[in-house]
Amino acid sequence: MNRIRLIFASVLALCVMVLIISIKDRANARSSTSSATSHTVVVEAPPPEPEPVLLSIDHKIKKGQTLGTILQSYKISNTSGIVTAAQAYFDLTKIQAGKSLTFTKFDNEVDYLSLSYAIDEDRKLVVELGETPTARLDEAVFVKSLVTIQIHVTRTLWQDATEEGLRPGDIARLANIFQWEVDFARELQHGARFMLVADQHVREDGGSKKLGDIHAVKLENAGKTHTAIHYVQKNGEEGWFSAEGAASKRPFLRSPLKFSRVTSRFNRKRYHPVLKKTRPHLGVDYGASRGTPIRTIGAGVVKFAGRKGGYGNFITIDHSGPYVTQYAHLHKIKVRKGQRVKQGQIIGTVGSTGMSTGPHLHFEFLVRGRHVDPTKVDVPTVEPLPKSERTAFFAVRDQWLPMLEQGKDPVVAEVDTE
Ligand SMILES: [Zn+2]
Repeated sequence: MNRIRLIFASVLALCVMVLIISIKDRANARSSTSSATSHTVVVEAPPPEPEPVLLSIDHKIKKGQTLGTILQSYKISNTSGIVTAAQAYFDLTKIQAGKSLTFTKFDNEVDYLSLSYAIDEDRKLVVELGETPTARLDEAVFVKSLVTIQIHVTRTLWQDATEEGLRPGDIARLANIFQWEVDFARELQHGARFMLVADQHVREDGGSKKLGDIHAVKLENAGKTHTAIHYVQKNGEEGWFSAEGAASKRPFLRSPLKFSRVTSRFNRKRYHPVLKKTRPHLGVDYGASRGTPIRTIGAGVVKFAGRKGGYGNFITIDHSGPYVTQYAHLHKIKVRKGQRVKQGQIIGTVGSTGMSTGPHLHFEFLVRGRHVDPTKVDVPTVEPLPKSERTAFFAVRDQWLPMLEQGKDPVVAEVDTE
């Protein structure tokens, strides 16, 4: 080590000497041309050092990478100190593949200054590195204003709404408002128009926007106009109502049997008593004696009515929106395929047909083709608006309706910071 240093020092000394000599020579040469009498040596100032540039390096986290392995690859030690510093805001051991860690450093230095990680769209964790790392949370500041937003569906609702500044969660909220009237997967047509009156939160730094509360929505689709006004009742219950004050939610009955008890619950990993192996139970069983009347829990159209393998005598009913219900092991079927049924209508009776150990109703609830637990699905219980609420509701409605109708560009009615 010492020898290397010695050699390095000698080489350096030699270089300096050569440099001095060359400067002298040049100076001599210059002085001899400019002035033969002067012997002043002029040494030119070295060129100014370039300003250091702050680099920002994005590291995309790959599957299986941990904070430790990533930091190692950047020659940053003290992983535990960094994790500890960040702990109050975010657990850095839970970084997600696909996201990025951003490192900063000056181009002329070896050590990194900071690392940051976007926790979500609006919150960024920043850790200042160094001997004792310190962390802070950079949170976006939003300014709220009341706006109208028009979405014209020309490609997909997803694309067109995203273009208008809606986030995935906002689009889901929008779809939920009309879930009882329109199946967005199947029934939303090209050319449909949404008009929203909503709070919009715009990032103070001019960055992203996000939708706050939605107050009213109008949807024009397939020649029909759907209007939904958000209203909070005096008792705090809130919901969506049509312009006339009718609840837009169309409740399902809680159960297809009037008096019933659940004998087998919804279970994705149930041990099947007949098959004697693990088989998901994608419905609920209601114990009842043979011949007990079965009601459809909602209005709809019969899509299937007949024998179907282990289901025995089986009925499928397609309800408005993304909802489908199915009824199995029936003794008698009392509807036909294609028939319209009203909520609560008797569609058959309890039996034990198909793969069944005794009389019971096996009942399934599907949302967008996926089985869900009928006892846990968010079955709405909203009643139509009571008479005592109507005056207040109409006042709210009349505040929003003109904005929905005119479809003006954003109107700023109130501004305050959150
Ligand atoms: Zn069952």
